[in-house]
Amino acid sequence: AAKRKLSGALRYDESLDSASALTLSLLTELRRAVEHDELRLYLQPKVPLHGQGGLAAEALVRWQHPRRGLVPPMEFIPFAEQTGFVRQLTLWMFEETARLLADPRTAAMPLRISVNLSTRDLLDPELHTRLGAILARHGVQASAFCLEITESAIMDDPLRAEAMLNRLSEQGFKLSIDDFGTGYSSLAYLKRLPVDELKIDKSFVMGMESGEDDAMIVRSTIDLAHNLGLTVVAEGVENLAILDRLRALSCDEAQGYHISRPLGAEDFLVWQARQLTA
Ligand code: C2E
Ligand code: CA
Ligand code: CA
Ligand code: CA
Repeated sequence: AAKRKLSGALRYDESLDSASALTLSLLTELRRAVEHDELRLYLQPKVPLHGQGGLAAEALVRWQHPRRGLVPPMEFIPFAEQTGFVRQLTLWMFEETARLLADPRTAAMPLRISVNLSTRDLLDPELHTRLGAILARHGVQASAFCLEITESAIMDDPLRAEAMLNRLSEQGFKLSIDDFGTGYSSLAYLKRLPVDELKIDKSFVMGMESGEDDAMIVRSTIDLAHNLGLTVVAEGVENLAILDRLRALSCDEAQGYHISRPLGAEDFLVWQARQLTA
């Protein structure tokens, strides 16, 4: 049964008796994925809803598996977090993003790219040093990056997270709270953090059309963010009606399939170039 599950999905399943054997083989596969260049940097554009804003995108990992094809992150990120492998993955994503930002085709654009951090990253006392070394290697500014952190990653160890966020902010990174509204952080606490942006979770954004509760949550989050002096981004924008509503509510930026799906780096550069000339 374990074997069948493994071939069906890479999702880590605690109910498996042979969980440790499965863990070991997945970990071996993931390590090999990095060595054999099977991970891919995808980018999903984020666009301003009012007037001119800089170009922006979120970096999202994909696994181009030799037999399974393109494996979505939800099938290996939770596992990578459990085993700590995610720290290596984060550094790989950050380095690929730095490489892209140093590319002559993007160097002239006012582009900012968001990279996702996990709990494990925040708890690494050397995180800021490791990121700083990558910036230096590629000659890229910290301000060209936004680091996305979920509320739950922060609340795992709030004091250590706060210390690291302060260091990263002093280094010049923009910071964003991802999946806002799904965690349990207190507003009083969030206010203390050197955060620049709130990202409204897509479950609320996608629910705006059918449910008044979700629409109200989106509206209050936008107001809250603005009252705290933060930029607010809606993710999961799947159609024009929602985009228009978000604009009417003064949401600052949007990201979602209606604007663009996540794109491979080359396709992303083509997309950006078209935006600039449009
Ligand atoms: P997330 O950080 O909340 O990323 C947004 C997810 O929403 C992405 O899924 C994106 O493809 C998806 N999305 C964007 N627009 C729409 C839309 O209009 N409709 C719908 N239904 N979905 C939309 P993806 O790429 O599958 O990633 C899923 C999650 O995996 C991410 O959620 C993040 O938690 C994690 N992840 C992805 N890449 C990385 C990474 O490099 N590092 C870490 N630590 N986590 C990552
Ligand atoms: Ca994110
Ligand atoms: Ca999110
Ligand atoms: Ca999410």
